[in-house]
Amino acid sequence: MAKSAVLGFPRIGPNRELKKSTESYWKGKITQDELVAVGKQIRKDNWLLQKQSGIDIIPSNDFSFYDHILDISVLFNVIPKRYSDLKLSTLDTVFAMGRGLQRDEIDVTALEMVKWFDSNYHYVRPTFSHDTQFKLVGSKPIDEFLEAKELGVITRPVLLGPVSLLFLGKPDNDSLDLDLLSLLPKLLPVYVELLTQLKKAGAEQVQIDEPILVLDLDSKVKAAYSTFFKALEAASTTIPSITLSTYFGTVVPNLEVLKSAPVETLHFDFIRAPEQINDVLTVISANQKLSIGIVDGRNIWKNDFETSIEFINNVIQKIPTERIVIATSSSLLHTPVDLNNETKLSDEVKDFFSFATQKLNEVTILTNLINNPKDVDAIKQLEVNIKSITAKKNSKITTNETVQKRLKSIDDKMATRASPFVERLKEQQKVFNLPLFPTTTIGSFPQTKDIRINRNKFVKGTITKEEYETFINEEIERVIRFQEEIGLDVLVHGEPERNDMVQYFGEQIDGYYFTQNGWVQSYGSRYVRPPIIVGDLSRPNPMSVRESVYAQSITKKTVKGMLTGPITCLRWSFPRVDINQESQALQLALVLRDEVQDLEKAGIKCIQVDEPALREGLPLREGKERSEYLDWAAKAFRVATSGVTNATQIHSHFCYSDLDPTHIKALDADVVSIEFSKKDDPKYIKEFQTYPNHIGLGLFDIHSPRVPSKEEFIAKIDKILESYPAEKFWVNPDCGLKTRDWDETRVSLTNMVEAAKYFREEY
Ligand code: GLN
Ligand code: ZN
Repeated sequence: MAKSAVLGFPRIGPNRELKKSTESYWKGKITQDELVAVGKQIRKDNWLLQKQSGIDIIPSNDFSFYDHILDISVLFNVIPKRYSDLKLSTLDTVFAMGRGLQRDEIDVTALEMVKWFDSNYHYVRPTFSHDTQFKLVGSKPIDEFLEAKELGVITRPVLLGPVSLLFLGKPDNDSLDLDLLSLLPKLLPVYVELLTQLKKAGAEQVQIDEPILVLDLDSKVKAAYSTFFKALEAASTTIPSITLSTYFGTVVPNLEVLKSAPVETLHFDFIRAPEQINDVLTVISANQKLSIGIVDGRNIWKNDFETSIEFINNVIQKIPTERIVIATSSSLLHTPVDLNNETKLSDEVKDFFSFATQKLNEVTILTNLINNPKDVDAIKQLEVNIKSITAKKNSKITTNETVQKRLKSIDDKMATRASPFVERLKEQQKVFNLPLFPTTTIGSFPQTKDIRINRNKFVKGTITKEEYETFINEEIERVIRFQEEIGLDVLVHGEPERNDMVQYFGEQIDGYYFTQNGWVQSYGSRYVRPPIIVGDLSRPNPMSVRESVYAQSITKKTVKGMLTGPITCLRWSFPRVDINQESQALQLALVLRDEVQDLEKAGIKCIQVDEPALREGLPLREGKERSEYLDWAAKAFRVATSGVTNATQIHSHFCYSDLDPTHIKALDADVVSIEFSKKDDPKYIKEFQTYPNHIGLGLFDIHSPRVPSKEEFIAKIDKILESYPAEKFWVNPDCGLKTRDWDETRVSLTNMVEAAKYFREEY
């Protein structure tokens, strides 16, 4: 009999319980015990739900109060001294590392946060130094295993594998020469100790994630796997059986690594890379199990049972069902919790979708269909599924002929600005007349409680559109006056009308659908509600002109228009799978092109089109797919932004990743702002020396409540000036300020502007 398995379940709770309680804890409104109790309840509900759904192999240790990668760093004592010196509880150490801490005498910045592969989840980068001493700190995986056991659920604990843990980390700034993989021999004994303890606690199996196996790996990394496997083999009698899992891509180029891996089960993502199956089959040894990731952990479309069954049946010709596990492709962390929480979607559209809770059923139904193909119940469910899939294929709401026609009309001219940057710059300088070290922000200002309350009232209909717009105007005015007061040069309207930078536009674009409750964790307590692209995309009305025009009407300074770029809209939505991503990006580009032109017509002279997700969309491996992506992604941005005159200044913004300047060069924006405050490696800035257009290097971390002083800004700018020219230097934060509060924002920005003024005098 095949078994059913889940690689991880969302931990935010069906009603965002985790967010509410962690934020209350940070504000000192609830105690740590109360917070811990909320976590316990969420875990319990998740385990019981999975059990009731009939899942055979249920994960534990997939829960986290902040980030599961940060948890495992802390578990192995990968805690830079500046945090361990604080002598906080383990949970508070986690929070200090994740978000920084500034309290009484304490002042530590947060660790760097980066994208988890090509997903919209962010992890806190494990940060190692020469004197990292691996040992077990606390016993989270064991405690959670025992907690589930007490509820009658024997789980399969999930751990990030040791090679991925090192590979995904970075050396701390006091140890920049550290070769991370050289730490493996010291880490492995502690890793084995953990596995041994799990076995003693009663764990029969453990899931070890080694997702880096879908990346391009050099021979050193591959060799690290043999070291790891030797350690597993040597400990085989004292550790649980292992499922080694990979996801988000193909392992084929690293296949030799997996040959004779001493593990009971190998898991692969056949949603993302179905074509790897034949190669994968060659490495599954005679007694090994194959875990077939066939229910999508990254998207929300209903599983097509017929296609899945056909795929699994082909595998079964080679491997008997006893050695088959039917699973989610990856953790379900990346999908919303429960479709049943949606009450506003039409029945037709709702029937296209499947969220984490529904995916549990998909996994069990598929397993039943494999184990008992004649089972009446299973057949009934298959029939229902076939009906849904057919209805989607025949649905009218997915196609818009006008959009398709316009898509075909895109040519090179539409994707090219009228003149090259140097010429544009001259015209722009005449219009803007900016000083050296121009200061600006990335767009959003604090989203206060008041803003949220009023937005909710408007959504619920308890205030009218006029009342809401008046409120928004007052917010805009407050933000404008503040920026004038502290002397910023290029202003923003502050985005008070936006719930989220993609959702806000998604809600105004035909073809997009959105949920009331489809939250997905982005990082820490930040969740997003990705809209869903169901059909061809078009813009019935201008989306941002009213607010930008109002902001510009009340100030003499330049106000930047603020839009979310085509790639970011695509990446932060659940995309269609019935047409390719390039077409979806170009449809979005056309929508934005109209918006950019409308802004220009309305007198907005500077327009920022954010593309923070550009990097995360990059295919994980080098090669054709990657170079094609870079081409169409840049083209989509240029289609969106090239319909304006030379004098209109196009800005763009990127964050959350190590950017390659050549990638952003192809966008040909006049000014880009990038996240920089946590880039300690001096090599990184050097890469940007040859970038031709202007750059704002983000000078402070907006994910942290910490406030940098004027001196700190001066020191930072001074350092950058060693390798970056003053003439191209914009001064700005790392990203938007929506998650900060006003007190922090006021002081941080004032200090930043003062630092810029200081350098103006110097130069
Ligand atoms: N303009 C957006 C803001 O300031 C950009 C956010 C982002 O890059 N994530 O909020
Ligand atoms: Zn950003």
